[in-house]
Amino acid sequence: MPTTIKCVVIPDNPEKPRETLNPTAGCIPRFPGCKLCYAQHIAASLVNRFGSEKYKEVVDLETKHWNGEVRFFPDVLQQPRKRKNPCSYFIGDISDIWYEKVEDAWLEEIFQMVYECDRHIFLILTKYPERMLKWIKQMGLLKTPKKHIWWGTSVENQQWADIRMPVISQLTELGHNTFISVQPQLSQINFNLAKMPILWAVFGGESKPFAALEEARPYHIRWIEDGLNQCENLGFKVARFVEQIGTFCVTDTWEAEFCTKLTESELSRVRGIEPAALYRYQIKGNKKGGGSLEDLSKHLQIREIPYL
Ligand code: SF4
Repeated sequence: MPTTIKCVVIPDNPEKPRETLNPTAGCIPRFPGCKLCYAQHIAASLVNRFGSEKYKEVVDLETKHWNGEVRFFPDVLQQPRKRKNPCSYFIGDISDIWYEKVEDAWLEEIFQMVYECDRHIFLILTKYPERMLKWIKQMGLLKTPKKHIWWGTSVENQQWADIRMPVISQLTELGHNTFISVQPQLSQINFNLAKMPILWAVFGGESKPFAALEEARPYHIRWIEDGLNQCENLGFKVARFVEQIGTFCVTDTWEAEFCTKLTESELSRVRGIEPAALYRYQIKGNKKGGGSLEDLSKHLQIREIPYL
């Protein structure tokens, strides 16, 4: 899953390095959140620009989409093994290691390293949490949560929140570290956190670094505010992290400095999220994804990291 959570730190070392690790390459876009999957564009661009062998067989260079094939690169698993100083690794930021074509034997190799390297933190994010949970059960790891592993799922709309969150919350109930990445958020969502607890929620809109900005779907400020509120007053702590406002972020409240009036064509694109939003968040400079804290008004500048 291609969303990289950038600010996970080991509590006693905020300057600790952060890395991504991609032991597999390849996937298939099949969910609403996959529409602008940037991983496949990165892969196509690595082949086009640098002749990358790693991605050549898994991406269609004309459409710049995954072609459904997957490859495994066990060599990258040596990086965390060799690294002695603690680091946080996001596994699979340009793939999804739980996609059905990723073989069980490859997963075994990946997790042999993950369980062995407990000086590091590993973030594992997927749109296929059912397979992840099944595999954890099969390996007999369900009742032995590890503090250095974070299991996460992506949530883009209500339908997929209702499908994926009950799976991941089973892990929370058993003491595992869990998170949701609500990116790209495509509608208002009732997360039902009292029934489906998780420890950390990361919010963000859709960004489109590789093509016309107009392709990004609208992200409403009301949805972020609502999501942040839902993480409060639960009787347990859900850490909240606003990662980015995306390329096309709208609001129905004028906030000087941050907003400009929507153009006619922009207005036509937000008709599906009535009441009509009238303003759009101004993204400064060329920060196309709006991933910078300064892009956000004060009440959205929330970047909490769960400390256990
Ligand atoms: S599951 Fe993730 S990596 Fe796979 S196509 Fe969808 S967004 Fe891209």
